[in-house]
Amino acid sequence: SKTQVGFIGLGNMGNPMAKNLIKHGYPVIASDVFPESCKELQELGAQILDTPADVADKADRIITMLPSSPNVMDVYTGPNGILKKVKKGSLLIDSSTIDPAVSKEMAIAAEKMGAVFMDAPVSGGVGAATSGKLTFMVGGAEEEFTAAKELLSCMGANVVYCGQVGTGQAAKICNNMLLAIGMIGTAETMNLGIRLGLDPKLLAKILNMSSGRCWSSDTYNPVPGVMEGVPSVNNYQGGFATTLMTKDLGLAQNTATNTKTPVILGSVAHQIYRMMCARGYANKDFSSVFQFLREEEGQ
Ligand code: NAD
Repeated sequence: SKTQVGFIGLGNMGNPMAKNLIKHGYPVIASDVFPESCKELQELGAQILDTPADVADKADRIITMLPSSPNVMDVYTGPNGILKKVKKGSLLIDSSTIDPAVSKEMAIAAEKMGAVFMDAPVSGGVGAATSGKLTFMVGGAEEEFTAAKELLSCMGANVVYCGQVGTGQAAKICNNMLLAIGMIGTAETMNLGIRLGLDPKLLAKILNMSSGRCWSSDTYNPVPGVMEGVPSVNNYQGGFATTLMTKDLGLAQNTATNTKTPVILGSVAHQIYRMMCARGYANKDFSSVFQFLREEEGQ
């Protein structure tokens, strides 16, 4: 039988990801600071423990899915962190989207304890997390990739090795910068079309058979009522929070500054999402930029 896997961070993404590990026969030992998030998994038979250190005491393979860099530092190197109790030879996989420099720091700290840390951020959203079809972008020692892939393939359709630790984050940050630009572009395009008298469903259908098609138009349309099963039909609840997208755009800006790379549209996208956070959209799905643009019309 399969040995237990630790899972820390059972939010919008962590919950369905951990469920897929259980589905594949892995006993899961989980922890989250917010006890309410653990309920569903506990009902499915997962063991719930108080702290990341408790999880590391029991499981020698651990996946973390946390909001941002400070949470990851806390969960690995904090007073009740994984590294307080980690077993030698443990494999620690962080699927959060964070600063690649923090991934490198965590890898060095883990190595000091005789453990291996890899970054493996994901793309695909809650839908893909639920259906086990995420894309994982993995950074770290290549000889550990096979062991990581065994677990990640239970939750994803694509598991791609990117290079040394931090390169998974690099790929993810680039993807999300493009995603944000595409989402804002889709939202403003749909809004203009509606203003020109087009039915939004018809306009989406035409875009999706034309050269403007993108993931935000055909899989995650921001206009309420155009598609089923997306946050826009659920008052932008669930999904990928605006505050998290803002974080990713900030990471893209930092890395662009460090490498002296022009990212003009990425910078504008960052400012738009920052404004949204300040205007009450922080915890809504990032496709709510459509709603934000509607309100900006000042009608
Ligand atoms: P979320 O906020 O829904 O979930 C994060 C969970 O971590 C919460 O349950 C929170 O209570 C828990 N947590 C925070 N600090 C903790 C700590 N110190 N110890 C234990 N648990 C802690 O976020 P999410 O949407 O699941 O996203 C997680 C990560 O994945 C983020 O980095 C995000 O950018 C990335 N991501 C999200 C999506 C998406 O569509 N939601 C897609 C791809 C990548």
